[in-house]
Amino acid sequence: MLTLDEIREYAGVNGLVSPAAEESRKKYGANVMTPPAREPLWKQYLKNFDSPIIRILLFAVAISAIVSIAEGSGLLNTLAIIIAILLATGISFYNEYHSSREFDVLNAHRDDMAVKVVRDSNPTVVPSRDIVVGDLVLLEAGDAIPADGWLLASDGLFCDESAFTGESEPVQKEKQDNVLKGSFVTAGKGRMIAGAVGDAAEMGVIAATLGIDHATKTPLESKLETLAGLISKFGYVMAVLICSTLIIRGILTGDLTGPNLATANHLLQYFMLAVVIVVAAVPEGLPMSVALSLSLAMRKMTRANCLVRRLVACETIGSATSVCTDKTGTLTKNQMEVIEASVTGPAVPAGEPVTPAEWITLNAAVNGTAYLEEREDGRVIVIGNSTEGALLRWLRAHAIDYRMQRKKIPVVRQYLFDGKRKRMSTVVNLNGRRFLLVKGAPEILSGLCAAAPDLSGVGVLASRAMRTLAFAHREITGDDENESDLVWDGYVGIRDPLRDDIAASVARCQHAGIRVRMVTGDNPVTAQAIAREAGIIKGGTVMTGKEFRALSAEAQVTAAKSLDVMARAEPMDKFLLVQALQKTGAVVAVTGDGTNDAPALKHADVGLAMGMAGTEVAREASDIILLDDSFASIVSAVWWGRALYENIQRFLLFQLTINFCACILVFIAPLLGYPEPFTIIEILWINIIMDTLAAFALCSEAPHRGLIDHSPVPRDAPIITPFMWVSIAITGAFLVFSGLLQLGTGFLGGKTDAEIGTVFFAAFIIAAVINGFNCRAMDGKMPQFFKGNPTFFLVIAGIVLIQVIIIQFGGAIFGTVPLTPEEWVTIAVAAAVPVLVIGFLIRCAFGWYRAAKKYPAGA
Ligand code: ATP
Repeated sequence: MLTLDEIREYAGVNGLVSPAAEESRKKYGANVMTPPAREPLWKQYLKNFDSPIIRILLFAVAISAIVSIAEGSGLLNTLAIIIAILLATGISFYNEYHSSREFDVLNAHRDDMAVKVVRDSNPTVVPSRDIVVGDLVLLEAGDAIPADGWLLASDGLFCDESAFTGESEPVQKEKQDNVLKGSFVTAGKGRMIAGAVGDAAEMGVIAATLGIDHATKTPLESKLETLAGLISKFGYVMAVLICSTLIIRGILTGDLTGPNLATANHLLQYFMLAVVIVVAAVPEGLPMSVALSLSLAMRKMTRANCLVRRLVACETIGSATSVCTDKTGTLTKNQMEVIEASVTGPAVPAGEPVTPAEWITLNAAVNGTAYLEEREDGRVIVIGNSTEGALLRWLRAHAIDYRMQRKKIPVVRQYLFDGKRKRMSTVVNLNGRRFLLVKGAPEILSGLCAAAPDLSGVGVLASRAMRTLAFAHREITGDDENESDLVWDGYVGIRDPLRDDIAASVARCQHAGIRVRMVTGDNPVTAQAIAREAGIIKGGTVMTGKEFRALSAEAQVTAAKSLDVMARAEPMDKFLLVQALQKTGAVVAVTGDGTNDAPALKHADVGLAMGMAGTEVAREASDIILLDDSFASIVSAVWWGRALYENIQRFLLFQLTINFCACILVFIAPLLGYPEPFTIIEILWINIIMDTLAAFALCSEAPHRGLIDHSPVPRDAPIITPFMWVSIAITGAFLVFSGLLQLGTGFLGGKTDAEIGTVFFAAFIIAAVINGFNCRAMDGKMPQFFKGNPTFFLVIAGIVLIQVIIIQFGGAIFGTVPLTPEEWVTIAVAAAVPVLVIGFLIRCAFGWYRAAKKYPAGA
């Protein structure tokens, strides 16, 4: 990094002019980091072989090769297993490669972070990637430091440098201290000059540690792991049973006659079948289906303006039962405008202000940290605090230039605004005399005034859903800068209209069984008026943060349950509310924008930070960033979270039906004296269908309306619902019975053993695949036919096509014989129709049952 003297000499201290910024970028580079080098692709691919399933398959390759060579029967079987291995590893490699891209999305977002900077002598906002060496950056609480640099001014500036030092306590930074990219301003304000950007910043070293947290297992993943263990055990038991049955049958039928090559061959064959049953039973597709669904949900959520930082949040947001939302920017447009004032209008003082209007004007212009930026297209943008922005716009509307005032009147000291104090003060020097200017929440300021003002006008504005802000001042004598004995100057009413879609979004949340609560720093009257407009008030209580704080921990839990609005909240109140709600068993999502919101965001089940108005500190503490700050985006996230869960259920329903049927058929057929229903290679094909292809087909189902028509599924509810068990049992029983009937009688077609077996195999696959439609519908309505999930149709059509090719042309490998077109039609109709009818009837029965018992869907 350049030293402070070098950089001063190079760039001066008044901010760069545009050509100089361009030159600096050429000389020192842009403020983007080279992404960390990834492992070569072949190494990433080889990692996929490090799984027990693949090892078993490799073992099967060896055994099959030995058997084939001993029999002299060619290596086609072996080759088929190798293809199965390549497919399984190839697909999971593709999937991992795909999801690692999410890291890039997140990093790109970091480079887009807005930074306040002085260019061409004007404060403006540029994306972090545009910061160059020599830039003069304006810092305030909540900002992330965009580059390494030196402080030119510090007004009580504290930085959280834990990413570098591991020390969580913020450190105070004085003028001329250095600051590091990747640390955060937790308090105060200041100005820095950038000395090193991009890879040259120290952050480059730790960049690799920042990214999406893939390490924590989601509750769903843990649930599925247990389930996978159970299914695998079922597979092992079945394998042992099948192997023993075959040996007994071999002895009875004379296949196993003694220690000779034929017996060894038969035994190897049985063993292979057992191995393959285990391979088929182990649901290796489960982790893949979760990864696929998560990455799909994540991508879709990003498109719906929710940037997911922690994968677990994709899933948790779907089970949220309570949302605690901010007001400004989330429910409202954050377009604050002064609508009313206690004075007729602002007035510029000639010298020392005399009238209340003059004091208010001076206060509004000087006692703040926000700026206005006039864009070339004529728009006026507020940089910084939006309440202050409204005041500056109000002055501007009355042709008053706040910058002139700021230039004219020297500021001695500033006590910045924060959500706890709910006021801000500035000490100014006016012709040798010092004055304290205070602005803030009216009822708080009134308590600091020498004579109590009349607050009835304030109450009227608040009841009209306006934010109210009061102004007061006093002359400072001696060193006493206390905010007391003030002279009341008046107040303004600021309106921030609700976002257009808010009432509908809130209603949608409520309909989906999610209780919406508003937490705001505004006074109770304003808060209540706005909450009513948004439809949040549902017979619950409106409480102030102070009242809530004063309650005992148990009383807080009771109060939280019935709370609709928390007004005059301090940031820690939000944290207390989240804690209390969680004690009631609620799954809590909370929004936050301020530096002080970090504890609540971290403690919530899902922390949602604002992408536009939020501070970097809040974003860093969050699980999901709402890129458009809108409450409506939360509803989309809930929707996708629920869709994700349901897609996994679909996949399980499909997979378990086939899995159980295949295992039971392979077990029972020899007991009844029928030939083995599937060859080893056929079972491997079935495995690919139910594990890999089904994950693709069913995990990309788009969310449907029904998902937000029911209450959240409790987090500890088993993922396999009673509906799914019944469905697996009935559809499975049908497949097993009709399969055995075909094997025993050939009722669907075929005369020789080979023909009967082929028809059975074709019908089994078609029926199983058609069951995919039932799984699509789950226990609700069939989704719109093509819309929402074209992948499903592609995969199903692909499977059927491959099945036809296998049977017509793959006899040498699969041991099948070609079928006639008539046979195909009979199979298709006989297999598809009953499966669809059975699925439909089960859904109807459940619909009736649910209506009778008020049993929620999805649970
Ligand atoms: P919300 O989401 O409703 O904005 P908040 O907690 O962010 O909640 P605050 O910004 O803390 O709300 O505002 C609380 C009160 O503090 C306002 O009603 C207003 O009276 C006062 N206030 C807001 N901004 C300022 C400021 N810049 N200077 C002085 N007082 C302010």
